[in-house]
Amino acid sequence: MSDFLNDKDLNTLNHSCAHVLAQAVKHLYPQAKFWVGPVVEEGFYYDIDLGDQTISDDDLPKIEKEMKKICKDGKRIVRHEVSKEEALEEFKDDEYKLDLINGLEDGTITTYSQGDFTDLCRGPHVETVKLCKNFKLIKHSGAYWKGDKNNKVLQRIYGVCFPTKEELEAHLQLLEEAKERDHRRLGKELGIFMFADIVGKGLPMWLPNGFTVRRLLSDYIMNKELELGYEHVMTPSLGNVKLYKKSGHWAHYKDDMFPAMELDDEAYVLRPMNCPHHMVMYKSTLHSYRDLPVRIAEIANDFRFEASGALT
Ligand SMILES: [Zn+2]
Repeated sequence: MSDFLNDKDLNTLNHSCAHVLAQAVKHLYPQAKFWVGPVVEEGFYYDIDLGDQTISDDDLPKIEKEMKKICKDGKRIVRHEVSKEEALEEFKDDEYKLDLINGLEDGTITTYSQGDFTDLCRGPHVETVKLCKNFKLIKHSGAYWKGDKNNKVLQRIYGVCFPTKEELEAHLQLLEEAKERDHRRLGKELGIFMFADIVGKGLPMWLPNGFTVRRLLSDYIMNKELELGYEHVMTPSLGNVKLYKKSGHWAHYKDDMFPAMELDDEAYVLRPMNCPHHMVMYKSTLHSYRDLPVRIAEIANDFRFEASGALT
């Protein structure tokens, strides 16, 4: 797959294309305000506030059409240096840009203009929007501003951009093939696992074929561990909250754990890790330094409270 993050030229091209996307969105939705447009593993995206409007699948071709127009028009991308005061004045009506500017160190700030569109950015960019013409918008989603679920949901649009048409087409072909290997599709078709709303979101049930795969994998792992001198143990999926207070999980990791269950005078929690149980097991007898290393292994279920969508 293409290395959008580490290939410097591809990175600059994709980031520049994110600005073309923003410019096109501004033409079509004059109320649009822009947060950030970084390059990520799968290409680029831009987070956009469209007021009350949301992006639908039908909107992407319209935005692509406007982007094509901008690329064809071929404006130069011009870098400007401004002071923090000037930047605050220039973007005074845009709370997102003000937030970004206020987070910057004092000193020179750069903005980039292409035709009728100016954006705050540290760059770098390609020289002209003409170079961004081999792009495709891939998908859209909602994204909380700054990733905080108490904040407003922005519209995130993803795309990819390549130096040549051939490279773009080859990449889109790979994406198509990846869809065919999507585990959610294969899981169903091959009888590996299933989900059911009545059981619960994100709770997979392994079907016979899937359990066979799981058994072969766990046999393989346990045999390897035996060869390496591990001894296998089994510990409960629950633990007293006191255990995780002692291990430090409670102080540092509580938000990623399921809430505790209050029972009698004690509180129990689904374990996020199995090592605290193993530490207690180790500590239950005396060990000479000659016994070390002590190798304990377990194929266990651990439980993490993850945001909806994190599983996919
Ligand atoms: Zn930029």
